[in-house]
Amino acid sequence: MKWSDFAQWGRKVADWAQDYHLTLRDRPVRAPLTPGATLAALPESPPDAPETMDAIMADLDRIVMPGITHWQHPRFFAYFPANAAPASVLAEYITATIAPQCMLWQTSPSATEMETRVLDWLRQGLGLAPGFHGVIQDSASSATLAAVLTMRERALEWAGNTKGLAGQPRLRIYASSEVHSSIDRAIWVAGIGDENLVRVPTQGPLRAMDPQALQQAIERDLANGHRPAGVIACTGGTGTGASDDIASVCAVAHAHDLYVHVDAAWAGAAMLVPEYRSLWAGIDTADSLVLNPHKWLGAQFDCSAHFVKRPEDLTRTLAIQPEYLKTHGADGIINYSEWSVPLGRRFRALKLWFLIRAYGLDGLRTMLRNHVDWSQALCERLRAAPGFEIVTEPVLSLFTFRYAPEGADANAVTQELLTRINDDGRIYLTQTKVDGTYVIRFQAGQFDCTEDDVMMAHDVITEIAATL
Ligand SMILES: *Cc1c(COP(=O)(O)O)cnc(C)c1O
Repeated sequence: MKWSDFAQWGRKVADWAQDYHLTLRDRPVRAPLTPGATLAALPESPPDAPETMDAIMADLDRIVMPGITHWQHPRFFAYFPANAAPASVLAEYITATIAPQCMLWQTSPSATEMETRVLDWLRQGLGLAPGFHGVIQDSASSATLAAVLTMRERALEWAGNTKGLAGQPRLRIYASSEVHSSIDRAIWVAGIGDENLVRVPTQGPLRAMDPQALQQAIERDLANGHRPAGVIACTGGTGTGASDDIASVCAVAHAHDLYVHVDAAWAGAAMLVPEYRSLWAGIDTADSLVLNPHKWLGAQFDCSAHFVKRPEDLTRTLAIQPEYLKTHGADGIINYSEWSVPLGRRFRALKLWFLIRAYGLDGLRTMLRNHVDWSQALCERLRAAPGFEIVTEPVLSLFTFRYAPEGADANAVTQELLTRINDDGRIYLTQTKVDGTYVIRFQAGQFDCTEDDVMMAHDVITEIAATL
C-alpha cells in the first residue's frame, strides 16, 4: 500500500463510509453477544507476506463488522451518545493524514492557536464568563485527573510533586455519590486514596449535593486535623442526570478556599441552549469544568473541553520543561502539553472547527432541542402505557423507567424486558439502579436521530413488554 494508491482506496473507503451510515437503520444496534467469535475468525499468527487491500477490506466486512455495536445508529439510546458527525469525520481523516504531534506551540503553531480560538468559540456559545480558558483533553477522565492533581498541589502549597504525600496531612475531596467513576479513579491515581473521597448526601429530585452537609463535612475534617482540598460537583450525572446546585456548592467551598471542579461531561454540550442553562446556574463561580464535545455535540472521540479559571494553577501542577522541550525565542506562546498529563497530543481542534462551521451553533442547538423534546414526549407516552412507571423524571434527554405490571417482581421483569429489547436489535438501551431499584435508562442524542426513531422506541418497548 503506497501513497500513490491512496486516492483510489480513499475513494473506496469514502463510499463504504457513506453506505454504512445510510444503511445503519437496517442493522441491529447492538452486536450479538457471542464471546470469542471475532477472535476465532482472526488468524492466530500474523502474515509474513504483504496482503492486498482488497483482501483486508473484504475481511473488514466479514470479520469485523458483525461484532460492532453501532454507536452511530440513530436508535442508539444506551449509555450516552458518542457522535461522529460527517464534518468531524472528514476533519479526523485530515488530522490522520497530516498526523502532527501538537505537544508544543512550535510543533504546529496553527494547531495550538486554533485550539485557543475554537475553545473560546465554544466558551462563548455556552455562555461561560470570559475568565475561562480552554484546553482539549483526550477524555473527561483526564480533565478530572488534572483538576484533582491541581487540588492536591494547591492544598499542599505546591509540595506534592516534589515531596510526595508521605508525612502530609490527609487531603479530603468532596463529591456526592452521583458522580462518575472517573472521579474515584482520579482520587486513586492522585494518591489521595478512596477513603478520603468524602461522599456528601444528596437531596431533591435532581439528587443534588446538600450544601449544608458539605459545610458540615468540611468543618468536621478541619476539626480532625485533615486538609480539605476540593469539591467535585456534577451537572448531568451518568445514572439519572443528577445535578448539583453549583452556586451553593461554590459558595460553601470557596468560603474554605477549596477548589471546585464541575463534571458536565454529557450535559455540558446542551448548555449551548440558553434555556437549559439553569441546570448549571452559578457555573461562572467554579474553578474548572469539563464537557465532552465527543458525546452529544458531534465531534468525534476524543475531544473533551476542559475550561479553567487559572491556567497557571494547572501548569504549576503539570508543566515540566526539560531542555529538549524548550522553545527559545518565542514569548507568550502556549504549550498545551503543559496543561495535561500526556505529553503527546493529536490535532483535535480541527474537528471542532469543522463541526462548528459546518452546522453553526444554531444547527447544533436545533439538534439538542429536538433530542430533549422528543425524549420528553416519549417519557409521557411511556408514563401513560399500562404497567410502566417513570422512576426518574427527564433531565434534558435522559430519564429512567421500569416495567411493573401488577403482581410481578418489577426488578426481574424490567431486567427481562431490557434483555429482550436488546436482543431484538431495533433499539439499544442500558440499565442503572436507583435506590436499589433496577431501572432502564433512555437518552436520545445520536446526530441523525429523528422523531420517528424516538417514537419507534415506544412501539418496541410496549410491544415486547406485552409478550412477557
Ligand atoms: C462519560 C462521562 C465521563 C467520562 O468521560 P470520558 O471522556 O470517557 O473520560 C465522566 N463523567 C460523566 C458525567 C460522563 O457522562
